[in-house]
Amino acid sequence: MKKIDAHAHIGEYGGWAGVSSSEESILKNMNEYEIEKTILCSANYERNEDTREMFESYPKCIIPLVYVNPLKSEKAISDIDYYIGEKGFQGIKINPLRDAFVADDTCLDVVMEKAQEYKVPVFIHSGHPPYSLPWSIALLAERFPKVKVVMIHMGHGHGVYIDAALKMARRYENIYLEMSGMPMGCKIKEAYETVGADRIMFGTDSPFHHPSVEIQKVLTCGLEEEKLEDIFYYNALKLMDVRKE
Ligand SMILES: [Zn+2]
Repeated sequence: MKKIDAHAHIGEYGGWAGVSSSEESILKNMNEYEIEKTILCSANYERNEDTREMFESYPKCIIPLVYVNPLKSEKAISDIDYYIGEKGFQGIKINPLRDAFVADDTCLDVVMEKAQEYKVPVFIHSGHPPYSLPWSIALLAERFPKVKVVMIHMGHGHGVYIDAALKMARRYENIYLEMSGMPMGCKIKEAYETVGADRIMFGTDSPFHHPSVEIQKVLTCGLEEEKLEDIFYYNALKLMDVRKE
């Protein structure tokens, strides 16, 4: 079954994580697991050139996101204008946990306004208190109803946060979900059926998780094959095609 990986990183994560990925490892995964395209961002907001280099080498395989830190607003704005405005990047990635701001903080307004201007989705890490909880991401989505917000990890490792991700996505139709790192396969089916057939996507969060593990969660979630194709492929395709409309 062909796939789009809706969430992967290129680069090194030191410290507690001790993981890294490279052009080679990403391409190897793509070949091995029928991943046609990867929605790619760097390891942090200072490494967008890593994404640009891979995108320029493999333009058909990579859908690039610009990683920004809203607390560095001047750099965030200039990076968005450069990478999206001039280099063909197709979305924005932010991580409230890593860069220490609450997901609905007003520091995000400039980023969301830019997303609205360029008509690109904003991918936001979810699932860790106090910064990146589903309720805060929902308050942001509520303030910017025209911006598509991808709640990466759909609540991540905690059942209460996963449930909140589903509840918030049911309430706000501009919230999309991505399942990497989220352990409860049955919640993928629940999202498909109760949030929306086009608002739940497969991802790996490479290099944090192995593609085969993330793939199994989708395969065993309890949905029929044609519905799995939406999750594995068509939903990400549809979301990222928005700019061309
Ligand atoms: Zn990630």
